Amino acid sequence: MRINVTRSSMPPMEEYVEEIRSLWDSHWLTNNGEKLKKLEAALKERLDVPYAALFTNGHLALEALLKALGLKGEVITTPFTFASTTHAIVRAGLTPVFCDIREDDYTMDPAKVEALITPRTCAILPVHVYGNLCDDGALSAIAKKHGLKLIYDAAHAFHVSRDGVSAARMGDAAMFSFHATKVFHTVEGGCVTTADPELNRRLEWERNYGIEDEETVLYPGGNAKMSEFHAAMGLCNLRYLEENIAKRRHVVELYDRLLSGHEGVVCPKKQTGVVSNYAYYPVRFTGQAGSRDEICARLAAADVHARKYFYPLITEFDCYRGRPGFDSSLTPIALQASRQVVTLPLYPELTEGDVERICGLILGKA
Ligand SMILES: *Cc1c(COP(=O)(O)O)cnc(C)c1O
Repeated sequence: MRINVTRSSMPPMEEYVEEIRSLWDSHWLTNNGEKLKKLEAALKERLDVPYAALFTNGHLALEALLKALGLKGEVITTPFTFASTTHAIVRAGLTPVFCDIREDDYTMDPAKVEALITPRTCAILPVHVYGNLCDDGALSAIAKKHGLKLIYDAAHAFHVSRDGVSAARMGDAAMFSFHATKVFHTVEGGCVTTADPELNRRLEWERNYGIEDEETVLYPGGNAKMSEFHAAMGLCNLRYLEENIAKRRHVVELYDRLLSGHEGVVCPKKQTGVVSNYAYYPVRFTGQAGSRDEICARLAAADVHARKYFYPLITEFDCYRGRPGFDSSLTPIALQASRQVVTLPLYPELTEGDVERICGLILGKA
């Protein structure tokens, strides 16, 4: 049976049907409906944050955030991420400037940020990649010192915290993705969290044409609203979050046990003080060049589909070829990681037998 890198979690169908039943009474399907309001309240509580503006998806949430902040100029970011992060910067008319990552957790290296700051720098946009939290203390200090906005791509970091501080509380704002492949999802969806009421208001304008009330349009916003059906899926999925994370943790611990201690295999490192959501299991193959690709091919031949997240590096994308600043040699640690890393299948229902088989294939024992 085919095993993919992930498998979307779904509530029992009857539960979802029960959740959407009231929509057939109200006929209110989108635009600040009852489900959206309920989900927003639940997320603010879960993420321990004053404001959470829900969106159609995480990417549009990030674009809206960049616009709502009125940013202009250069944004320091990481090339070791999903396409969305850089595309959002570019599509908002900003210029990405790439900072290298740390070897051990793949997050932006704060020690390399200040050298990249110019008079045109307006913001820092790091990614809590794989759910590993960035060094928020160091990055906040740099942002503050230079008067820069600090916004996080927290697409992977739903329900992750360090020393009791939620990822949603770090920086000026954070974007979370609720895409079907994420730990918590609304099929498609996302949100921006912030403690700034003014920013939250602008985000609401961004997602609904800048309409303040029936006769007042204050801003040329777009449309990126979350529908009631999506919000209802979120309300159902939220009830299973803890259970799903516990099952993911079990899978991760088994991978750790079976894969650690083998030459040329680097398992993900636990971050101290961090409560993880066990979103991804990135393994690194540090043996001879190409061993990652060989192992991926071996897994694929057995119908196990791991993913080379994040390969190619964003600075290698065809659409950015030749653009000034898109030079992978400037971020050698990220480039090396992109050639060595693979995220293994990880989802709540993955069985111990599946994990044993996958590890056997990786270690060449199957
Ligand atoms: C999933 C993801 C996004 C985009 O979120 P969508 O909800 O799919 O639009 C952005 N950044 C990262 C790192 C992601 O993994």
